[in-house]
Amino acid sequence: MSARPEPTECFDLVVFGGTGDLAHRKLLPALYHRELGGLIPEHARIIAVSRRPLSDADYRAWAQEKILAHVTDACHKVLSRFLQRLHYISVNVSEDTGWQSLEQILKGREDVCRAFYLSVSPDFFGPICQALGTHNLITPKSRVTIEKPIGKSGSTAAHVNETIGSVFKEEQIFRIDHYLGKETVQNLMALRFANVLFEPLWNSSYIDHIQITAAETLGVESRAGYYDTAGALRDMVQNHLLQLLCLVAMEPPESMAADSVRDEKLKVLKALKPMDPPSVMRNTVRGQYRAGASSDGGAVSGYLEDVQLQASQTETFVAAKAEIANWRWAGVPFYLRTGKRLAERISEIVIQFRELPHSIFKESAGRIAANKLVIRLQPDEGVKMQVMIKDPGPGGMRLREVPLDMTFAEAFQVRHADAYERLLGDMLRGNQTLFMRRDEVEAAWAWIDPILEQWAKDRTPPKGYTAGTWGPSAAIALIEREGRTWHEDTL
Ligand code: NAP
Repeated sequence: MSARPEPTECFDLVVFGGTGDLAHRKLLPALYHRELGGLIPEHARIIAVSRRPLSDADYRAWAQEKILAHVTDACHKVLSRFLQRLHYISVNVSEDTGWQSLEQILKGREDVCRAFYLSVSPDFFGPICQALGTHNLITPKSRVTIEKPIGKSGSTAAHVNETIGSVFKEEQIFRIDHYLGKETVQNLMALRFANVLFEPLWNSSYIDHIQITAAETLGVESRAGYYDTAGALRDMVQNHLLQLLCLVAMEPPESMAADSVRDEKLKVLKALKPMDPPSVMRNTVRGQYRAGASSDGGAVSGYLEDVQLQASQTETFVAAKAEIANWRWAGVPFYLRTGKRLAERISEIVIQFRELPHSIFKESAGRIAANKLVIRLQPDEGVKMQVMIKDPGPGGMRLREVPLDMTFAEAFQVRHADAYERLLGDMLRGNQTLFMRRDEVEAAWAWIDPILEQWAKDRTPPKGYTAGTWGPSAAIALIEREGRTWHEDTL
């Protein structure tokens, strides 16, 4: 029997941006599920803060509608209890108004955990933290969670960190990367460090290369304004893909304590081979989608039409070859790939083992495929190990590749907590293991910055690719010229 999580201590969770897209799609459903699981203590409150004027009743009605639209297991009794926890305060951060109302509602609750969640434009991270300090709203039991992106470069990230750090201590700051809250990502740690099987093979002697893909079928949707100033490298690679790379590549930490894990991830980021301008040109591909077909065959517009611009150099696709200069990984390429409007929605990590050193079988036995471990983050979270076996029955020795498949939905008949549900719980408990530390964020930027700089100097536009495909052909060439190929789920 697995241990049931305990409720956290009593809290006031103050969600800046409580009327935004992230709040209604992710945060409110995640908090509702925590209520459903009996994980919210009796007197805990959720205080939504945004610009528009709303009463508590207005906000509760709005939240109810959004939660019902996003959850499939609504229980009206639980929902009505949850809604009673919700309060609404109007604060205009740009005009610096409304803070007294926030002071008022928080007054007298200094002894409970006071958690601020900044689900607003990153431009507001600094001003909100400073205002919280000025209005004496930060208690010893306070913490702050910030969403990505943290900065647009190493120097701007350092500035954001500096500003937040002038008000909150590092142990109070929770930099969220929701990929780290996914079930399979944590399973990657279980797989590596709770089994004796893999660790001896987890190095350049047995692993040929690693692929990390985060492919989306959607375009930029309602986030065009933000996306055109960011692009795929900043939006996906700097955080999600590099975090996954760290978990695959790190040395076994001493324990699951936050700093043990984060120290090991930091070492990986520091060991990433820096890219000089010729390496950027050779080892990275950027693309931008053109009009094409969606995964269900319908016609979809191109990026420029989606963002309503005549021209844009923003990349909606990146493929890159990263290398880690350390004893374990020297000579093992990490191929990273992410993009919008691709052929399928898939996030996965593929560990490609080396070919056999010598085959004892005759040619008639068939080709022996090298083993592959596929860790699927979405959809259908699970782990699959591809191994060779003998084809059953008579007919001599014929070999066949089969998957040892552990799709979580089939293996465990339980609902999996959404990444935000788990991360909100960890944050409220004060557990920073799955959150990024300041030095990690800045080390990731140190690898990204030279790529951005070289792309800015290079006058050639991103390579076009048709929506509904796997990106520009240069991305296929990036891996195939080294005698390798992007993984396709053929089994
Ligand atoms: P959004 O839908 O644009 O919501 C922005 C929120 O900020 C709204 O609640 C808005 O309140 C509030 N706001 C705007 N100006 C304000 C002001 N002057 N004072 C006080 N509140 C103000 O943004 P979002 O998509 O939810 O994103 C929020 C954060 O999460 C961003 O940092 C984003 O990068 C990050 N993020 C979002 C997603 C996602 O899928 N949406 C994914 C990953 C990370 P009003 O409605 O009252 O104006």
